Amino acid sequence: MKAVIDVRDLVKTYGEGEATVHALAGVSLTINRGDYVAIMGSSGSGKSTLMHILGCLDIPTSGSYLLDGVDVSRLNDRQLALVRNRRIGFVFQAFNLIPRTSAVANVELPLAYAGVKASVRRKRALAALDMVGLGNRADHDPNQLSGGQQQRVAVARALVSEPALLLADEPTGNLDSKSTADVLAVLDQINREGRTIVLITHEDEVAHHARRVIRLKDGEIMSDVRQRAIQDERDEVPSWA
Ligand code: ADP
Ligand code: MG
Repeated sequence: MKAVIDVRDLVKTYGEGEATVHALAGVSLTINRGDYVAIMGSSGSGKSTLMHILGCLDIPTSGSYLLDGVDVSRLNDRQLALVRNRRIGFVFQAFNLIPRTSAVANVELPLAYAGVKASVRRKRALAALDMVGLGNRADHDPNQLSGGQQQRVAVARALVSEPALLLADEPTGNLDSKSTADVLAVLDQINREGRTIVLITHEDEVAHHARRVIRLKDGEIMSDVRQRAIQDERDEVPSWA
């Protein structure tokens, strides 16, 4: 099975001398294609630091990181931006949609940055909205959508470039229980179709959906528990990488 994420001895320190903080104190971790991983841990345990490095938003102080087989631990800013655009889909707690811009135009954005031509962009964005059950809301602006619908648009935007990895930071943190259930159902579905998901959550209910739960403490992995096997690759929809 091919690893989407392979990190070895990841260390991230902030500050120096007596003020040094070891945000990550040596994390080694392999995540295979098709897994669905929840990262938990109390405040200050290093979750965001790890997510920023996995998302190529930051680089480690030391250690290695192979993303989809590519060594990204020493790329420069421009190269990291390219990796973020092509290989990673992000979903944030606050949705981060562009206001006064239709759902379909929001979903098209990553493709526009990647230089995909307009007609192809539109087609792929509509397909992504269909996938999250919002094909009939393509023309709606974010303020015409519920929180749960906005987050599903954000999921469509994260997936439209067919990334190797979907990274979600507290994706249901701003949602009521009904919208949380809707968004989790979409994540379950896209994972069943073979997409690899890593999410941060504080909620046991959310972590329960994952196939594997990793708990951090003081910048180290305290436990790593598999709840469900990764689905057999033969069950995957072939178009999903
Ligand atoms: P979590 O997301 O689990 O709450 P973080 O990864 O944000 O944890 O933080 C881990 C540790 O690193 C904390 O002690 C935090 O104070 C420290 N830290 C995080 N970012 C910075 C920074 N930019 N400068 C200094 N210390 C930081
Ligand atoms: Mg955090």
